[in-house]
Amino acid sequence: MAVRGAFAPNVTWGQPVGVVNARFLVDAERWGLRYLCADCAHVGGDGRCSLGFPNERLWQQPFAAVDGQGVPQFCRCFEPDEG
Ligand code: SF4
Repeated sequence: MAVRGAFAPNVTWGQPVGVVNARFLVDAERWGLRYLCADCAHVGGDGRCSLGFPNERLWQQPFAAVDGQGVPQFCRCFEPDEG
């Protein structure tokens, strides 16, 4: 079992990870949520994060909102690109 950090809570409330991720994608589409590097003000033209964060998971499709341990996979520094 992987060790979780103090700020890596399981947010699935007992639901299967696959169900949580599928539900998130449906809700994100429905509400037009933006949360990926592609929509962030900090992404460079080469797809890398200008703040230096490793962001490979934020380009994967379909996006997994939580990992196998139920830990959220969103970037805490996401800022919508309004430009
Ligand atoms: S701040 Fe986060 S969401 Fe924005 S480009 Fe960097 S890794 Fe992606």
